[in-house]
Amino acid sequence: MHMAHRGPRLFLVLGDQLHPDPHPLLSLAQQGDYVLMVEAPEEATHVWSHKARITLFFSAMRHFAERWQTRCDLTYLRIGAHKFKTLGAAVDAFVSQHPDIDCIGMLEAGDARVSSALAACGKQIGRPIDVYPDPHFLCSLEDFEHWANRGAQQGKAAQSLRMEFFYRWMRRRTGVLMDEDQPVGGQWNFDAENRSGFGASGPPAVPPPQRFVPDGITRAVMADVEKFFPEHPGSLSDFAWPVTEQEARLALADFVVHRLPAFGRWQDAMWRDEPFLWHSLISAAMNLKLLDPREVISAAEDALARGTAPLSAVEGFIRQILGWREFVRGIYWRYVTAWPLTNALSASHPLPKWFWTGETKAACLNAAISQTLQQGYAHHIQRLMVTGNFALLAGINPRAVADWYLAVYVDALAWVEEPNTLGMALFALGGRMTSKPYIASGAYIKRMSNYCKQCVYRPELRTGAQACAFTTLYWDFLMRHDHLLRSNPRMAMAYKNLDRMDEKERAAIRDWAQVRLTQLASL
Ligand code: FAD
Ligand code: SF4
Repeated sequence: MHMAHRGPRLFLVLGDQLHPDPHPLLSLAQQGDYVLMVEAPEEATHVWSHKARITLFFSAMRHFAERWQTRCDLTYLRIGAHKFKTLGAAVDAFVSQHPDIDCIGMLEAGDARVSSALAACGKQIGRPIDVYPDPHFLCSLEDFEHWANRGAQQGKAAQSLRMEFFYRWMRRRTGVLMDEDQPVGGQWNFDAENRSGFGASGPPAVPPPQRFVPDGITRAVMADVEKFFPEHPGSLSDFAWPVTEQEARLALADFVVHRLPAFGRWQDAMWRDEPFLWHSLISAAMNLKLLDPREVISAAEDALARGTAPLSAVEGFIRQILGWREFVRGIYWRYVTAWPLTNALSASHPLPKWFWTGETKAACLNAAISQTLQQGYAHHIQRLMVTGNFALLAGINPRAVADWYLAVYVDALAWVEEPNTLGMALFALGGRMTSKPYIASGAYIKRMSNYCKQCVYRPELRTGAQACAFTTLYWDFLMRHDHLLRSNPRMAMAYKNLDRMDEKERAAIRDWAQVRLTQLASL
């Protein structure tokens, strides 16, 4: 890091660096330093961003700038009011206008693309860029590397990192849900009590999440988004995401009281026309850094201490934040050079156009995608076991799939989206992040939802026009990747079931899968 400086500095605040006070970058600003925030078109267009995702970023940025405007020398460049396509171009022009600027300060970016573009910009304009670590995360990148390499020192494969071990290590080092050196309740994980379906009668009344009515700033952003990005996917008619730190805290409190108690139990369940169920809806606020993960974890621990939520729910929820969220960030930066080309299963089919419209007869895909376009949200199992599972089974090109996820979710940022999509959902990293591919046939979706009841396809059929594509492609996937997966002990049961079929049935599935794969566009 470049420390000694003579002239003023330019602090660049990115759209996902809207931390509460004390802001880790702006608290370093002194008299004479400049602060720059830019609504850069490239950030909304490098993937074909959902209108709600663009609105969320720009609105949260404008709210943040309003608060900081009086406290520092902040220049805020709104979309349409400047001519710079990229962040780098805006920085370049700002430094030309203020040639006394001596160096540029920023927090580490959440996207390697932005990081390298700004590094190149610094070189071009002849100013060093000081990159400060982001204290938002509970595990620094240095500590993650230390943990990951420790496995190698102990003779375990450093190439196959597992979330469960990372999570236990995080529990121990933070003391969260720990009773001295033992996990509270005597177990690390309560999944046996979690993850039920709703059964035929469906969910009890779902507590509606708190929604935040767009204020004047958000409405102005919406108008700009409709004006400058009219062709982009998604709707703004239901936009009600928290855009300030106060709203983010209200959203958290609302979740802890009304939905946390049943969070674990129905974490994996899906139901038609119920997009949110018992989920927290705080990923976007956390990823913009409006909400600190420590505060989120404490709120859940408090609910346990007060007896308003059971340990199984609290542990299940905390595992997502302290475990998965921190783990995928470490994985993102560890494999950052691999992401652009990673494709362990050589998947090459194009992304069907209906991913952008939801217009497919497959009821589960129709529901997950339509809801995504309406809300900019789908919960984890919809992302993993409906859209992700389908893309994996159908062998869709991982880059096209990752770009779709990055575009359509309000919480999407490269550091969290790419490991989840490429590493977890598509198995495109091979076994480096998960021990086996997350694949399931229509039977799983039938068990966890009511989608199949209203579908033209039938989950139990493997071949024929009415066969569920998940079911056909599940068996075909096992045969297609036999050489790679059969020896994996965690796939043993799946192959045992496949081996029970006679060769005639297997051949019929292979033939029908070929038909399906050539007709994905009209599924
Ligand atoms: P809840 O179900 O209430 O979970 C609580 C919190 O835990 C979330 O807010 C989130 O911060 C964290 N969390 C849960 N699972 C994960 C996970 N696997 N990785 C990281 N954090 C997790 N999450 C994103 O924040 N941004 C993404 O771009 C993103 N892309 C995904 C793509 C795919 C293919 C998959 C399978 C998952 C993706 N996830 C992503 C993870 C997860 O689906 C979302 O974090 C979650 O659905 C957000 O909704 P929620 O806040 O209601 O979460
Ligand atoms: Fe989805 Fe298959 Fe069920 Fe239809 S039958 S909803 S395609 S799992």
